[in-house]
Amino acid sequence: MRFGLIDLLIAIGCLSIGMVLGQVVAPDLPASLRPLAGPFAGVCLYLLLVYPVYRGLRLFPMILPRCPCCAKFQPGFHILGGQYPRITFRCPTCQGEFVIWHSGKPGDQETWERPVLALKWPYALGRYCRIQKTKHGAALESLPKPGSDGGR
Ligand SMILES: [Zn+2]
Repeated sequence: MRFGLIDLLIAIGCLSIGMVLGQVVAPDLPASLRPLAGPFAGVCLYLLLVYPVYRGLRLFPMILPRCPCCAKFQPGFHILGGQYPRITFRCPTCQGEFVIWHSGKPGDQETWERPVLALKWPYALGRYCRIQKTKHGAALESLPKPGSDGGR
């Protein structure tokens, strides 16, 4: 997991603005819900802004995917190259190479030589979908859930 100063700044900024917004709407809420209005508004604001902010700043997500080749979580991957949004990575354990599309879906220049992952909303929290090439284009396929790979 990557968590840097920019990630902390975005989270604190959204929570701070959400606390102010929560206090604006708090007088209209029942007394038991008033203390929760600020944090709830902050989380909603974070989930609303995280996708456009991270994509706009071209930040990598905080949570890395499982390697699509060996299906293991890794502390990091080697970045082989590519141009945003298509970045090629190599697994340090199995040396398998794969592609992550940070735009959410593969573009026309995808060669399909390696496994392809697409990063979906909420982006920063690392929700990846495996993409398979079909005759009619690309088809989404979710990554296996942790613990369901059977090889552990
Ligand atoms: Zn691997």
